[in-house]
Amino acid sequence: MTEILKADENQALLIKTVEQFGIVNQNLKAIEELSELIRALSRSVYGGGPEPVLENIAEEMADVYIMLEQLQMIFGNQDKVKQQMKEKLNRLDKLVNGTDVK
Ligand SMILES: [Mg+2]
Repeated sequence: MTEILKADENQALLIKTVEQFGIVNQNLKAIEELSELIRALSRSVYGGGPEPVLENIAEEMADVYIMLEQLQMIFGNQDKVKQQMKEKLNRLDKLVNGTDVK
Protein backbone atom coordinates (compact mmCIF):
# COMPACT_ATOMS: atom_id res chain seq x y z
CA MET A 1 0.00 0.00 0.00
CA THR A 2 1.09 3.56 -0.43
CA GLU A 3 3.02 5.46 2.21
CA ILE A 4 0.41 8.22 2.07
CA LEU A 5 -2.28 5.83 3.27
CA LYS A 6 -0.09 4.61 6.15
CA ALA A 7 -0.13 8.02 7.86
CA ASP A 8 -2.06 7.74 11.13
CA GLU A 9 -4.55 10.46 10.25
CA ASN A 10 -5.35 8.79 6.93
CA GLN A 11 -5.78 5.38 8.59
CA ALA A 12 -8.17 7.01 11.08
CA LEU A 13 -10.09 8.63 8.22
CA LEU A 14 -10.48 5.29 6.43
CA ILE A 15 -11.66 3.55 9.61
CA LYS A 16 -14.22 6.31 10.14
CA THR A 17 -15.30 5.99 6.50
CA VAL A 18 -15.98 2.25 6.87
CA GLU A 19 -17.85 2.86 10.13
CA GLN A 20 -19.91 5.68 8.64
CA PHE A 21 -20.89 4.09 5.31
CA GLY A 22 -20.83 0.45 6.37
CA ILE A 23 -19.15 -2.72 5.17
CA VAL A 24 -21.61 -3.58 2.39
CA ASN A 25 -21.51 -0.08 0.90
CA GLN A 26 -17.71 0.01 0.98
CA ASN A 27 -17.57 -3.40 -0.71
CA LEU A 28 -19.85 -2.02 -3.41
CA LYS A 29 -17.70 1.12 -3.63
CA ALA A 30 -14.62 -1.07 -4.13
CA ILE A 31 -16.36 -2.87 -7.00
CA GLU A 32 -17.27 0.50 -8.53
CA GLU A 33 -13.73 1.88 -8.23
CA LEU A 34 -12.17 -1.29 -9.62
CA SER A 35 -14.49 -1.12 -12.62
CA GLU A 36 -13.54 2.53 -13.19
CA LEU A 37 -9.86 1.55 -13.28
CA ILE A 38 -10.65 -1.27 -15.69
CA ARG A 39 -12.46 1.23 -17.92
CA ALA A 40 -9.53 3.70 -17.78
CA LEU A 41 -7.04 0.97 -18.65
CA SER A 42 -9.25 -0.22 -21.49
CA ARG A 43 -9.37 3.32 -22.89
CA SER A 44 -5.54 3.46 -22.76
CA VAL A 45 -5.39 0.30 -24.86
CA TYR A 46 -8.37 0.71 -27.17
CA GLY A 47 -8.81 4.51 -27.13
CA GLY A 48 -11.94 6.57 -26.63
CA GLY A 49 -13.36 8.69 -23.81
CA PRO A 50 -13.14 12.44 -23.26
CA GLU A 51 -10.61 12.60 -20.37
CA PRO A 52 -6.86 12.60 -20.78
CA VAL A 53 -6.11 8.89 -20.34
CA LEU A 54 -2.97 9.07 -18.17
CA GLU A 55 -4.53 11.51 -15.71
CA ASN A 56 -7.62 9.32 -15.51
CA ILE A 57 -5.55 6.20 -14.83
CA ALA A 58 -3.73 7.97 -11.98
CA GLU A 59 -7.06 9.09 -10.48
CA GLU A 60 -8.58 5.62 -10.68
CA MET A 61 -5.43 3.96 -9.30
CA ALA A 62 -5.61 6.31 -6.30
CA ASP A 63 -9.27 5.36 -5.78
CA VAL A 64 -8.40 1.67 -5.92
CA TYR A 65 -5.49 2.03 -3.45
CA ILE A 66 -7.85 3.76 -1.04
CA MET A 67 -10.47 1.04 -1.43
CA LEU A 68 -7.91 -1.78 -1.06
CA GLU A 69 -6.82 -0.28 2.23
CA GLN A 70 -10.44 -0.22 3.40
CA LEU A 71 -10.95 -3.83 2.27
CA GLN A 72 -7.98 -4.87 4.40
CA MET A 73 -9.64 -3.15 7.36
CA ILE A 74 -13.00 -4.79 6.62
CA PHE A 75 -11.62 -8.31 6.18
CA GLY A 76 -8.86 -7.95 8.77
CA ASN A 77 -6.49 -9.80 6.49
CA GLN A 78 -3.47 -7.52 6.24
CA ASP A 79 -1.06 -10.31 7.26
CA LYS A 80 -2.56 -12.75 4.73
CA VAL A 81 -2.40 -10.12 1.98
CA LYS A 82 1.25 -9.44 2.82
CA GLN A 83 2.02 -13.17 2.74
CA GLN A 84 0.21 -13.59 -0.59
CA MET A 85 2.13 -10.65 -2.03
CA LYS A 86 5.42 -12.11 -0.85
CA GLU A 87 4.64 -15.49 -2.44
CA LYS A 88 3.45 -13.94 -5.69
CA LEU A 89 6.49 -11.68 -5.92
CA ASN A 90 8.72 -14.72 -5.35
CA ARG A 91 6.91 -16.53 -8.16
CA LEU A 92 7.24 -13.46 -10.39
CA ASP A 93 10.94 -13.25 -9.57
CA LYS A 94 11.39 -16.85 -10.68
CA LEU A 95 9.38 -16.21 -13.85
CA VAL A 96 11.19 -13.00 -14.79
CA ASN A 97 14.62 -14.34 -13.93
CA GLY A 98 13.97 -17.67 -15.63
CA THR A 99 14.62 -19.98 -12.72
CA ASP A 100 12.61 -22.82 -11.22
CA VAL A 101 9.33 -22.12 -13.03
CA LYS A 102 7.00 -24.99 -13.92
MG1 LIG B 1 -12.94 6.31 -9.37
